[in-house]
Amino acid sequence: MIAIRGAIFIDYNTREDILDKTKQLITGIMAANNIVNDDMVSILFSATTDITKVYPAIGARELGIIHAGLFCTQEMHVEDSSKMCLRILMHVESDEKQRSAKHIYLNGAQTLRPDLVNSDVPKSPQKEKIFSIAIDGPAGAGKSTIAKKVAKKLDITYIDTGAMYRAMGLYCMNNNILLDHRSTIIECLNHIDITIRHIDDEQHVFLDGMDVNHLIRSHEVSESASRVSSIKEVREKLVELQRGIASRESVIMDGRDIGTHVLVHATLKIFLVAGVEVRALRRYTESLEKGHDTSLETIKQDIIDRDYRDMNREASPLERASDAVLVDTTKMTI
Ligand code: C5P
Repeated sequence: MIAIRGAIFIDYNTREDILDKTKQLITGIMAANNIVNDDMVSILFSATTDITKVYPAIGARELGIIHAGLFCTQEMHVEDSSKMCLRILMHVESDEKQRSAKHIYLNGAQTLRPDLVNSDVPKSPQKEKIFSIAIDGPAGAGKSTIAKKVAKKLDITYIDTGAMYRAMGLYCMNNNILLDHRSTIIECLNHIDITIRHIDDEQHVFLDGMDVNHLIRSHEVSESASRVSSIKEVREKLVELQRGIASRESVIMDGRDIGTHVLVHATLKIFLVAGVEVRALRRYTESLEKGHDTSLETIKQDIIDRDYRDMNREASPLERASDAVLVDTTKMTI
């Protein structure tokens, strides 16, 4: 008998993604080791404590693995260890005494055991060495415009964290939750599901399973996002999601607290600023292009108010990290 190890990072704590990744890992192990279902004696699954929506063993059953004994367990929580990780130990009958196990690590999990990784498994050279770029700054400084371009050029993932706070703000609006009812908002965090997914290289935010990208850019949602983002518990939930993504792949992430809080060890930190007139004009032009008719004055006031709240809140206020490079884009083109 041989024992084969495998691990994979889960992108979203949803039934669908957990089962999908479980199946990818099992079939990856089977293909690399030339195993059929009947060879399997048992599979032990272990999952980090943040994987909660479904037992991975169900994925194995759905693959038709009927006879092998399956057992799911939760890992001990070790400080600073990888998040959202599913591990497998598969026992397989083997006649060939010399047969050696090919251990399989997928979806960024190669970083866990580079020494054991089967060299036949295709790897993305970019993802072997994970790095991160943090861009912070006030509204309209050009963070997302630049981050998207850099992400494309470096072939890494762009994470727009503001979109997550916007989804949270939208949730409150849709459910008529007053923004000063902190306890109600905190209570809701237990059942709200905010996830992000990249479709054709564009980030989409899902709120309780619904793609809300087209609903989160209005003036009202900006205001609502800026208010809910001052609640510490809201931030904790979203920061966990943001760190989870950055632990698995190279990212360029923009927001207000990325360099100071979310990714304090980011490879590169940029603090992007610009004069308020220029920022308001940029947002106004964007809004005209999208067919909205908000006035320049309203946009400018909105930016001033949001900046004030973002810089003066208690929980992770907007500020330049001491090791961030300051870039003033007032007089710069894209
Ligand atoms: O970046 P964007 O303007 O889309 O962000 C919307 C709001 O979300 C910001 O005004 C800010 O209050 C909040 N936010 C935050 N921390 C982040 C990103 C956004 O507090 N990392």
